[in-house]
Amino acid sequence: MYRRFHRACNCDDTVIPRLIYALPIEHSWAHSKGVTLLGDAAHVMSPYAGEGANLAMLDATELALAIAGHGDDVETALTQYESAMFPRSKAAAEESARGLEMCFAVDAPKGLVHFFQSMGVPGEL
Ligand SMILES: Cc1cc2nc3c(=O)[nH]c(=O)nc-3n(C[C@H](O)[C@H](O)[C@H](O)COP(=O)(O)OP(=O)(O)OC[C@H]3O[C@@H](n4cnc5c(N)ncnc54)[C@H](O)[C@@H]3O)c2cc1C
Repeated sequence: MYRRFHRACNCDDTVIPRLIYALPIEHSWAHSKGVTLLGDAAHVMSPYAGEGANLAMLDATELALAIAGHGDDVETALTQYESAMFPRSKAAAEESARGLEMCFAVDAPKGLVHFFQSMGVPGEL
C-alpha cells in the first residue's frame, strides 16, 4: 500500500507513514484530587474532525476561568471544568470517528466528496 501510494505521488520526497492514535469515544476518569488533563492528553482523537487543537485551547481557557473563578476551591474548579470537557470531547471524538471512517471507506473518497458538496458551492454561503 505504501509503495503504491509513493508511486502514485510520483515524486522523490520521502513519505513517512505515521500511526493514528485515538482514545475510546467517551473516555473519562473518576475525579482525582488536585489533578486533571486537557488537550490530547485528555481526549486524543484522529484528526478527521479537525478539532483537537481547538479543543485543547478551549480546555485551557475554561480550566483557567474555572480556577480563577473559584478562589482557593480548586476541587470545585476542576470538577466544573471536567463536567463540561467530557461531553464536549465526546461529541468531537464521534465526529472524528465518522470522518476517519469516511476517509478510509472502501468507496473513499466518495463520502468525502459528498460531504464537501453538501456544504454548497463556494460563494453561495
Ligand atoms: C495530521 C494532523 C492534523 C491535525 N489537524 C488538525 C486541525 O485541522 N485542527 C485541529 O484543531 N486539530 C488538528 N490536529 C490535532 C492537534 O494537532 C492536536 O489535537 C493538538 O496539537 C493537541 O494539543 P496539545 O497541546 O494537547 O498536545 P501537543 O500539541 O501534542 O503538545 C504536547 C507537548 O508536550 C510535549 N511533551 C510531551 N511529553 C513531555 C514531557 N515529558 N515533558 C515536557 N514536554 C513534553 C510535546 O513535545 C508537545 O510539544 C491534527 C493532528 C494531526 C496529527
